[in-house]
Amino acid sequence: MPEPRHQIVIVGGGAGGLELATHLGKSVGRRGLADIQLIDMSRTHIWKPLLHEVAAGTMDPSEDELEYLAQARWRHFRFRLGRMVGLDREARQVHLAPVLNDRGEEVIAARSFHYDTLVIAVGSVSNDFGIPGVKQHCLFLDTTDQAVRFQQRLLDAMLHAHTQGGPSRPGELGVAIVGGGATGVELAAQLRHVTRLLSQFGLDEIDPERHIQLHVIEASEQILPALPPELAAAARRELERIGCKVHTGERVVEVSADAIHTASGNTIPAAIKVWAAGIKAPEVCGELAGLEVNRINQLVVDRRLRTSDPNIFALGDCAACPLDDSSDWLVPPRAQAAHQQASLLYRTLRRRLVGKDPLIYSYRDYGSLVALGRYSTVGSLMGNLTGSMMVSGFIARLVYLSLYKMHQAALYGWPRAMLFSLVHLLRRHVDPEIKLH
Ligand SMILES: Cc1cc2nc3c(=O)[nH]c(=O)nc-3n(C[C@H](O)[C@H](O)[C@H](O)COP(=O)(O)OP(=O)(O)OC[C@H]3O[C@@H](n4cnc5c(N)ncnc54)[C@H](O)[C@@H]3O)c2cc1C
Repeated sequence: MPEPRHQIVIVGGGAGGLELATHLGKSVGRRGLADIQLIDMSRTHIWKPLLHEVAAGTMDPSEDELEYLAQARWRHFRFRLGRMVGLDREARQVHLAPVLNDRGEEVIAARSFHYDTLVIAVGSVSNDFGIPGVKQHCLFLDTTDQAVRFQQRLLDAMLHAHTQGGPSRPGELGVAIVGGGATGVELAAQLRHVTRLLSQFGLDEIDPERHIQLHVIEASEQILPALPPELAAAARRELERIGCKVHTGERVVEVSADAIHTASGNTIPAAIKVWAAGIKAPEVCGELAGLEVNRINQLVVDRRLRTSDPNIFALGDCAACPLDDSSDWLVPPRAQAAHQQASLLYRTLRRRLVGKDPLIYSYRDYGSLVALGRYSTVGSLMGNLTGSMMVSGFIARLVYLSLYKMHQAALYGWPRAMLFSLVHLLRRHVDPEIKLH
């Protein structure tokens, strides 16, 4: 009897997990050195940093999403649809919940998969910090469905206000974004652009500047805390120039149906409220047969991305990985970290197949860039020779776009990634610039 093949199971096909499955499939999967299985609760993948564009309607998710089943076929791994709900570390099994359709009928029964090596890459969700009213009244941008829901809420609100000759009460077309990090700031700028465009598509009873109030609410004294103060101040000026109200030093204490309430006693009226103020790992990470988690539920890993179980690794947003050996700092939850960790784990898992030790991960910060819709891009780049360098305008925009290109290249290879760019360009000449339904 031939030896059964080593089973590598990756749970979560996001920025990190899908790149890892693709690299492993292309090499060890194709050559039959191990079986690679990718589990995800969604049928398609979209790169999460694009979700604010989906929410604003400047990106139609159906044009940019990747079908897991197709990728699995092309890249020699198996795709399993389902949500991980638990683990049996003794029997080395991952348990998945049944998959239901939109009528609540069972499509796939609950099932379990055996692993020899398990990689958990389930990402993160928004953290509401237990603040009253957030869950009930805020929208989140954790999944494509949520982003699409936001886009439709905004469009519906504008259609409604238009047919009644303009908004009938304060805040009816107000959008409040809680969290002045990259997500909140990018969303605000993109929304200003989109609401201006929408009013040109026949919704002319609405004056975007006068009727649509956009608020960004941030607890600290500076928006974009990851950027140097000069750049954060430039981004703030730009937001204010395009008519967004920026509230810094305002800690949200409650959210009600029509407004955001802050600790200073401020009430900001807004019918649509988005929560983008911090992350935590999904609930399931705390329910994985005793694997250690931190206070935001991330799986504790060492610098080799190992959990306390030597057969289980974790990467990306769901992993609490030390930045170095001498401080308590953790690797930040960012797409570039997930990308780097996927590349490292690819090499580690190949070594593991021949009995070698896992490699040590060192985070390389290439800087942060924030796109202010069509208006501007600002950020800082880090290089070995240049150190930290502030950039803005066209160069910053190019580098910003290149991050997504690199993700596409990791999944499809450079020729197809460039073909996607061409298709995108051609579509811009035949489709409206924004989604109108
Ligand atoms: C709107 C927005 C904008 C952002 N912009 C930037 C940016 O400009 N730059 C940057 O560096 N980072 C940005 N980020 C952060 C970045 O998206 C994340 O750091 C990155 O996606 C993390 O990758 P990951 O592989 O850990 O998880 P993800 O990419 O989140 O993927 C997790 C995957 O796990 C699956 N999953 C979750 N739970 C389960 C389960 N129980 N069972 C099975 N599957 C499961 C999900 O369906 C998903 O496919 C942004 C995030 C958001 C939301």
